This record gives sequence, C-alpha cells and structure tokens, in this order.
Amino acid sequence: NKDNILISACLLGENCKYSGGNNKINDTIIDELREKFNLIMVCPEQLGGLMTPREPCEIKNGKVLTKSGDDVTKEFELGALEILRIAKENNVRFAILKANSPSCGNNEIYDGNFSGTLIKGKGITASILKENNIKVINENEL
Ligand code: SF4
Repeated sequence: NKDNILISACLLGENCKYSGGNNKINDTIIDELREKFNLIMVCPEQLGGLMTPREPCEIKNGKVLTKSGDDVTKEFELGALEILRIAKENNVRFAILKANSPSCGNNEIYDGNFSGTLIKGKGITASILKENNIKVINENEL
C-alpha cells in the first residue's frame, strides 16, 4: 500500500521537455522512489495540449509567453487543472516537480526575459498544487 505521488515525467526520462529532451535523474534515486511510492508520471505542458518540441516559455506579469511572444497561459492553466484533477483522484499529497520550470518550478522560475535569470516564484502547476495543500519539492531537494 504505497502512497501515490506525482513526479514530473521529464525527471523519469520522458522526452517531454520543450527541447524534445528530458531531465532524467539518477537511476538509483528513481529505484528508491519506486520502492517507497507509487509514481504517477505527469507533464502539465503536454497535458495542456502543447506539442513537443515546443518553444521555451517564461512567466511575465502573470502571463505565460513563448520566446516569440505567443500567449500560452490558457494551455498552462489547463495542464495545471488536469494535474490537480489527477492528484485529487489518486489522493496525492506530495509531488516531486522539476525545478525552475514555468509549470513545475516550486521555488524559483526564470524572470520572463529569457535571459537565464532566476527569480523567486512558482510555476503554474506547482502553484495550483500548493494552493490545494499538496506539498511540492523539486529534484534537488530529494
Ligand atoms: Fe518536465 Fe514539467 Fe516541463 Fe513537462 S512541464 S517537461 S514535466 S518540467
């Protein structure tokens, strides 16, 4: 009877990252997590209907914009709500989400200028989960 937890799909090696790659963490850590938890793999950007590969996005003034300036706030919000639905359906209390992502980042995100500068803030999904009392940590906090 392991607890269900959410984990960013790119951390498990799924090629769902904007670039078409992944952010896979160490296999030993993945094995340890699998022993303790039932891992539910999610990618909010794909669930929100965005293609892979896709343009990088950052949050500016409450909107999510692609590097070339398209507003993808709706897609990001849709993905986040879908993740929340999955979390509720599976009694999830805890999520491990990729650091610094405009969806998944729990502590810091890029500043919206595509300059590589991190600021304090949360991605859209991390934020919605937190508002619903689901604890979010990132892969560096494991
Ligand atoms: Fe990974 Fe989250 Fe980005 Fe999907 S949205 S690729 S799960 S960081």
